[in-house]
Amino acid sequence: MASKSLWMDVDVMPAAGSLPGDLECEVAVVGSGIARLSTAYELGRRGKSVAVIDRGPIAGGMTSRTSAHLAPLCDDLVSEMTKIKGQEATKLFCDVQAAAVDRRMSMARPVRVS
Ligand SMILES: Cc1cc2nc3c(=O)[nH]c(=O)nc-3n(C[C@H](O)[C@H](O)[C@H](O)COP(=O)(O)OP(=O)(O)OC[C@H]3O[C@@H](n4cnc5c(N)ncnc54)[C@H](O)[C@@H]3O)c2cc1C
Repeated sequence: MASKSLWMDVDVMPAAGSLPGDLECEVAVVGSGIARLSTAYELGRRGKSVAVIDRGPIAGGMTSRTSAHLAPLCDDLVSEMTKIKGQEATKLFCDVQAAAVDRRMSMARPVRVS
Protein backbone atom coordinates (compact mmCIF):
# COMPACT_ATOMS: atom_id res chain seq x y z
CA MET A 1 0.00 0.00 0.00
CA ALA A 2 1.43 3.40 -0.97
CA SER A 3 1.84 5.86 1.90
CA LYS A 4 0.42 9.37 1.68
CA SER A 5 1.63 12.36 3.67
CA LEU A 6 -0.28 15.46 4.72
CA TRP A 7 1.91 17.64 2.49
CA MET A 8 0.97 15.76 -0.66
CA ASP A 9 -2.43 17.50 -0.68
CA VAL A 10 -0.87 20.98 -0.42
CA ASP A 11 -0.80 22.84 -3.72
CA VAL A 12 2.34 24.95 -3.28
CA MET A 13 2.09 28.29 -5.11
CA PRO A 14 -0.79 27.28 -7.41
CA ALA A 15 -0.38 30.55 -9.34
CA ALA A 16 3.10 29.56 -10.55
CA GLY A 17 2.75 28.41 -14.12
CA SER A 18 4.98 27.41 -16.99
CA LEU A 19 7.70 29.80 -18.11
CA PRO A 20 6.17 32.06 -20.74
CA GLY A 21 9.52 32.41 -22.55
CA ASP A 22 13.18 33.18 -21.91
CA LEU A 23 14.12 34.43 -18.49
CA GLU A 24 17.33 36.08 -17.36
CA CYS A 25 18.78 35.26 -13.96
CA GLU A 26 22.14 34.76 -12.33
CA VAL A 27 21.42 31.23 -11.18
CA ALA A 28 18.97 28.69 -12.55
CA VAL A 29 18.08 26.04 -10.00
CA VAL A 30 16.61 22.86 -11.47
CA GLY A 31 14.27 21.11 -9.07
CA SER A 32 11.99 22.46 -6.38
CA GLY A 33 12.43 19.99 -3.56
CA ILE A 34 13.78 20.99 -0.17
CA ALA A 35 17.41 20.74 -1.35
CA ARG A 36 17.14 23.10 -4.32
CA LEU A 37 14.61 25.43 -2.68
CA SER A 38 17.04 25.79 0.22
CA THR A 39 19.84 26.56 -2.24
CA ALA A 40 17.67 29.11 -4.05
CA TYR A 41 16.68 30.69 -0.73
CA GLU A 42 20.28 31.04 0.43
CA LEU A 43 21.35 32.50 -2.93
CA GLY A 44 18.44 34.93 -2.89
CA ARG A 45 19.37 36.04 0.62
CA ARG A 46 22.85 36.82 -0.75
CA GLY A 47 21.44 39.05 -3.45
CA LYS A 48 21.49 36.68 -6.41
CA SER A 49 18.62 36.61 -8.86
CA VAL A 50 17.45 33.01 -8.93
CA ALA A 51 14.96 31.12 -11.06
CA VAL A 52 13.67 27.78 -9.82
CA ILE A 53 12.30 25.45 -12.46
CA ASP A 54 10.73 22.05 -12.09
CA ARG A 55 9.21 19.56 -14.47
CA GLY A 56 6.37 18.91 -12.04
CA PRO A 57 4.55 20.48 -9.11
CA ILE A 58 6.57 22.63 -6.69
CA ALA A 59 7.89 20.50 -3.83
CA GLY A 60 5.99 17.57 -5.32
CA GLY A 61 8.92 15.14 -5.33
CA MET A 62 10.23 13.19 -2.37
CA THR A 63 9.88 16.37 -0.32
CA SER A 64 6.09 15.97 -0.42
CA ARG A 65 6.49 12.66 1.43
CA THR A 66 8.70 13.86 4.27
CA SER A 67 7.59 13.52 7.86
CA ALA A 68 9.47 16.82 8.41
CA HIS A 69 11.65 15.41 11.15
CA LEU A 70 14.86 17.38 11.70
CA ALA A 71 17.65 15.28 13.12
CA PRO A 72 21.43 15.55 12.80
CA LEU A 73 21.75 11.77 12.57
CA CYS A 74 22.10 9.10 9.94
CA ASP A 75 19.01 6.89 9.32
CA ASP A 76 21.27 3.83 9.15
CA LEU A 77 22.99 4.61 12.46
CA VAL A 78 26.16 6.63 12.99
CA SER A 79 27.93 3.46 14.10
CA GLU A 80 27.22 1.80 10.73
CA MET A 81 28.39 4.87 8.85
CA THR A 82 31.60 4.94 10.86
CA LYS A 83 32.24 1.32 9.85
CA ILE A 84 31.81 2.14 6.17
CA LYS A 85 33.19 5.68 5.90
CA GLY A 86 35.50 6.01 8.87
CA GLN A 87 35.45 8.37 11.82
CA GLU A 88 36.62 11.54 10.07
CA ALA A 89 34.01 11.44 7.29
CA THR A 90 31.28 10.47 9.76
CA LYS A 91 32.14 13.38 12.05
CA LEU A 92 32.06 15.75 9.06
CA PHE A 93 28.65 14.34 8.07
CA CYS A 94 27.27 14.81 11.61
CA ASP A 95 28.65 18.36 11.82
CA VAL A 96 27.07 19.29 8.47
CA GLN A 97 23.76 17.71 9.50
CA ALA A 98 23.77 19.63 12.79
CA ALA A 99 24.57 22.90 11.00
CA ALA A 100 21.71 22.25 8.55
CA VAL A 101 19.24 21.63 11.38
CA ASP A 102 20.39 24.82 13.14
CA ARG A 103 19.98 26.78 9.91
CA ARG A 104 16.51 25.38 9.34
CA MET A 105 15.46 26.24 12.89
CA SER A 106 16.76 29.79 12.54
CA MET A 107 14.59 30.17 9.44
CA ALA A 108 11.48 28.64 11.03
CA ARG A 109 11.34 30.73 14.20
CA PRO A 110 10.16 34.07 12.71
CA VAL A 111 7.36 32.31 10.83
CA ARG A 112 5.86 31.06 14.11
CA VAL A 113 4.56 27.77 12.77
CA SER A 114 1.96 26.36 15.15
C1 LIG B 1 8.22 8.61 3.62
C2 LIG B 1 9.42 9.56 3.74
C3 LIG B 1 9.63 10.23 4.93
C4 LIG B 1 10.74 11.08 5.07
N1 LIG B 1 10.92 11.77 6.24
C5 LIG B 1 11.98 12.59 6.39
C6 LIG B 1 12.17 13.31 7.59
O1 LIG B 1 11.40 13.22 8.53
N2 LIG B 1 13.23 14.14 7.68
C7 LIG B 1 14.11 14.29 6.64
O2 LIG B 1 15.07 15.08 6.79
N3 LIG B 1 13.95 13.62 5.49
C8 LIG B 1 12.91 12.77 5.34
N4 LIG B 1 12.75 12.09 4.17
C9 LIG B 1 13.73 12.29 3.11
C10 LIG B 1 13.45 13.64 2.43
O3 LIG B 1 12.08 13.73 2.10
C11 LIG B 1 14.31 13.73 1.17
O4 LIG B 1 15.66 13.50 1.49
C12 LIG B 1 14.19 15.11 0.55
O5 LIG B 1 12.83 15.51 0.42
C13 LIG B 1 14.86 15.10 -0.81
O6 LIG B 1 14.73 16.40 -1.30
P1 LIG B 1 15.30 16.76 -2.71
O7 LIG B 1 15.08 18.23 -2.90
O8 LIG B 1 16.70 16.24 -2.82
O9 LIG B 1 14.47 15.89 -3.75
P2 LIG B 1 12.86 16.02 -4.27
O10 LIG B 1 12.03 16.52 -3.16
O11 LIG B 1 12.58 14.72 -4.86
O12 LIG B 1 12.99 17.16 -5.32
C14 LIG B 1 13.55 16.96 -6.60
C15 LIG B 1 12.75 17.83 -7.56
O13 LIG B 1 13.48 17.92 -8.77
C16 LIG B 1 12.59 17.80 -9.86
N5 LIG B 1 13.39 17.33 -10.98
C17 LIG B 1 14.16 16.21 -11.03
N6 LIG B 1 14.74 16.12 -12.24
C18 LIG B 1 14.36 17.21 -12.94
C19 LIG B 1 14.63 17.68 -14.25
N7 LIG B 1 15.44 16.98 -15.09
N8 LIG B 1 14.07 18.83 -14.66
C20 LIG B 1 13.25 19.52 -13.82
N9 LIG B 1 12.95 19.13 -12.57
C21 LIG B 1 13.49 17.99 -12.14
C22 LIG B 1 11.52 16.83 -9.39
O14 LIG B 1 10.31 17.02 -10.10
C23 LIG B 1 11.39 17.23 -7.90
O15 LIG B 1 10.38 18.21 -7.69
C24 LIG B 1 11.66 11.25 4.00
C25 LIG B 1 11.43 10.58 2.79
C26 LIG B 1 10.32 9.75 2.65
C27 LIG B 1 10.08 9.05 1.35
